[in-house]
This record gives sequence, C-alpha cells and structure tokens, in this order.
Amino acid sequence: MWDLWYKNAVIYCVDVETFMDSNGDGIGDFQGLTHRLDHIEALGATCVWLLPFYPSPNRDNGYDITDHYGVDPRYGTLGDFVEFMHAAEERGLRVVVDLVVNHTSVDHPWFQEARRDPSSPRRDWYVWSREKPENLHEGMVFPGVQEATWTWDEAAGAWYMHRFFRHQADLNITTPAVREEIERIMGFWLRLGVSGFRVDAVPFLVEYRGVEPPDGRPDPHRYLTELRDFLDWRKASAVLLGEANIPMDSLDEYVGDGDRLHMIFNFLLNQHSFLALARGAMEPIARVMRATPPMPALAQWASFLRNHDELDLGRLTDEERREVFAAFAPEEGMRLFGRGIRRRLAPMLGGNTRRLAMAQSLMFALPGTPVIWYGEEIGMGDAPSLPGRDPVRTPMQWSDEPNAGFSTAPSERLVRPVVADGPFGFARVNVAGQRNRHDSFLGQVQRLISTRRSCPEIGWGACEVLDTGTRSVLALRSDWRGNAVLTLHNLAGQEVQVRLPREMGRLAPMLGDAEHLEATGSTDPIPLGPYGFRWYRIRGERR
Ligand code: MG
Repeated sequence: MWDLWYKNAVIYCVDVETFMDSNGDGIGDFQGLTHRLDHIEALGATCVWLLPFYPSPNRDNGYDITDHYGVDPRYGTLGDFVEFMHAAEERGLRVVVDLVVNHTSVDHPWFQEARRDPSSPRRDWYVWSREKPENLHEGMVFPGVQEATWTWDEAAGAWYMHRFFRHQADLNITTPAVREEIERIMGFWLRLGVSGFRVDAVPFLVEYRGVEPPDGRPDPHRYLTELRDFLDWRKASAVLLGEANIPMDSLDEYVGDGDRLHMIFNFLLNQHSFLALARGAMEPIARVMRATPPMPALAQWASFLRNHDELDLGRLTDEERREVFAAFAPEEGMRLFGRGIRRRLAPMLGGNTRRLAMAQSLMFALPGTPVIWYGEEIGMGDAPSLPGRDPVRTPMQWSDEPNAGFSTAPSERLVRPVVADGPFGFARVNVAGQRNRHDSFLGQVQRLISTRRSCPEIGWGACEVLDTGTRSVLALRSDWRGNAVLTLHNLAGQEVQVRLPREMGRLAPMLGDAEHLEATGSTDPIPLGPYGFRWYRIRGERR
C-alpha cells in the first residue's frame, strides 16, 4: 500500500547513547528511550530517527559498524529494541533507523576475513589497490583530521580505500554479494517494524571510486533505484531519507522521477538559512528557493537547522562563510574542518529566545518535512571543550537533578559530560522546568509542531517566495488543493511593517510571536516585532 506519510511528518532525531540511561551505567539505552517516548509524543513529533545503535568500537559515534544485525550491548539487546518498537507503535510513532553501508569498521568480521585471505569471497567486498594509488589525499571527508583516503594494510598486502576515517573501510557496491547483503540488512530491520532508513553518506555510496565500473558503465546513481525497488517490494510505506549534501543541478540523480530517494536533506537551504540569519536578510533563502528545481510528486525535502554533525557551510562562498563564522562562531575553537560550526543553535543565537523561536518557526515553514535534533526543543546548549563533533552530543537535559536526570551513574562515568554551567546548564535549561508551561520555549515548539501538522499545504503544496520589499522579511505562501498558508518571518532585530505584494483575501491567524493575533486584511500593513513571525491561513480569496 502506498502511504505518503512522510510528506507531512515531523521527525525527531535521537542518539540512544545520550538520551536516557535506565540502568545507571552512564550510557543511554533502549529501555531509557522507551520510558521517554512520552516526551516525544507530547512534543507532537510523528517519527523518531535513531542514530546508529549497532555494535561498534565507537570511534565515529557508531558510524563504524561491526555487525549490522544487532544492538550494541551498551544500549541493550535486540529484545529491548523490539520492546521500544512496540511502545513507539502504540503511540503512533514511526521509527526510521540509520543505514550505514558506504563503509564498515575495519574491525568488522567481513573486513578481517577480506584482509587475511586474498582468495576469500569477502575480498571483493572492499575496495583494494595493489599499487600505491596516485590520489592518496583526494576526496577526504574530514580534512585536517583524516590523513588520506587510502591506507596500506600489511595483512592484505594492499591499499584499501576509505572516504571517511582509516578505521572505516569502504564497501564495494559493484560486488553483487555486497548489494545482496545491503538488501538483507534492510529486510531485517523492516521485519522488526521500522518505517525506513536515513541513508548515510549517499554520494559516497553511489560512486565507482577505486573500482572498475560494471559492464556498460551505468550511472552509479541507478543503484538508488535498485534500493528503492527492494524497499517498495518489501514495505511500500517505508522511506529512504538521504544524507546528500549536493548542488541543485544533481538533484534528479538522487530523486529520479520519484523512484529513488523519497527524501533528501536540504543542505543547501540549511546553509543559506544561516547566512540569512547572520545577515538579518531574506535574500539568501529566496535565492536558493528560486533556484530549486521542482521535486517529483513522490519526493520531498527534509528541512533542518542543526543536526548531530557540524553545521556544514561548505557550499557558501568563502566570503559568505566568513560572514556566518563572524556571526555565529567568532572563535576558532567553535569551528570544524575549516568549513563548519560545532555548536548548537541556542548558543549560536546568543540564547535570545525570540530569535530562537523565530529560527525554529522558519525551519517549520520551509517547504519540506522538518527534522529536529534532540534537545533543540528546549534550547539546549553545547560543550565547547569536547573534541570534534561531540560538543552538540551531550546528554539530554531532563531536569535539574544530578546529571540532568539523564543517569544515576557517578558523573565521571557518563558517556559524555552534561552541560552543567553557564546560561545553558541543566539547572536552567531542562524538560521538567518547561513542561506544561505555555510560555516556555518547549511550549512554543509544541505549538509550532501542532500548527505545522495542521498545514499540509507546506508538506504537499507549491511554495512561493513573496516580494514584500522589506529586506529582513521572508514571506512564503504555500498552496495545496485550494487552501493556502502564509508565513512571515522577520530575520532582523528591528520592528518592521510588512506589505504583501497583492490582494489575498483575509488573513486568519494561526500562530505568531504575540499572544493575541488579530485577523487582518491582506492589503493592510502587518507589524512584525524584532525577530517576529506570523502564520496565517488565507481565507475568502477571489481567484
Ligand atoms: Mg545504560
């Protein structure tokens, strides 16, 4: 059965490891997460995306897998996973899991077998070179941290390719047995009830780098059609949500005619949204939206502000990136890989809750399906002293109890320290203190989510950027099946009066930064306070 649930979903991303610890060992686990599904349900999210929880030596936050069919014992058992799935289903929550098949950990038994024995059938599962490759340093994902993309392996007597860290060997997707195994992995988790996969590192998965292209040299992106076919045959309602930071002109390689990835993260719009926030001007968002080709009917963008990685600004110009750095990451230590920012949203916006609420509202108003990184709903801060990408991966702040209510373990045994000090410390920023309070940040995000869910126009419809003549105001109109929604966002800290470019009937308020919003005629000027925002449904329009 076809089911386009993802068109109007709200996705909440969780790292099991840092969400809730049930057994007091300092590490989040499935039983803890299951207990806290109430929070996700109350928030109004409709789908949970789990970061990798598979057995792993954990040198890259679980993206270095040693068994794709299991649960790392630190997080519980497969039985705990099934209990979690049952509890999520009872609440009407769908679950999407990470599919990490561009590479495995070098500790994976497949790689160990492959390196030990050149005649092993596993040998062709990875990408090897007997000769020293010429392009040793080309195409590194983590410049400055990673040394090369090929590493000599003594046991194998050959070089193996790794787009990511040297402890993550790339799988060879031209080997039929590898493709069969990837389908087996998908089939396994679909049988356990998941509604799809967030596919890791898609551009690196679908390339023939270091290997001979198969006969006829088909476009490697055709592999996405193969994955999609398999998914549709096994579970038509399941989705593929691709991590692919791509330019717009290669979009059709990834979504096809709606027969490849269902969803794709809009990295380009994400980066330009931060440029717009930095400038207090709507132009960078409007520029990207106007240059965005239409999505096939079955495909969808995924919108986000922050995620578990650094805020990647690699697709801005050097000058634009410098602007965003100056506004949101003025210190060198806040940056990563020369292209990104390793901070959460709330500290980037200086803890200004008006601006923070506006930024969240903006993300929900952009065309696509919103994806929230855990903790963003309460305005959590980060831990700048932690290495690499870890500052944004601190434990969820549940209450003002020890360890933020995350764990009863001694604090030195926590998987990562909680944010304890400063304006974002858990004593000030936590779920318990914001729950059931209409005026709290959590209360605002809850209302945003319920409003967004009542606007299928945004998930399904066509979106138009309206020119109001006001530099700081992004005005978006989404139309679907004779209904229309208008959203206004003031990206700057000065009050403005907005005039719409044409008559649109009467504007019925749905949501805004003020308590009592009035209905207004579309030809009247609309006042917007500093970082103000409004959501209206358009009524009685003459067409
Ligand atoms: Mg635990």
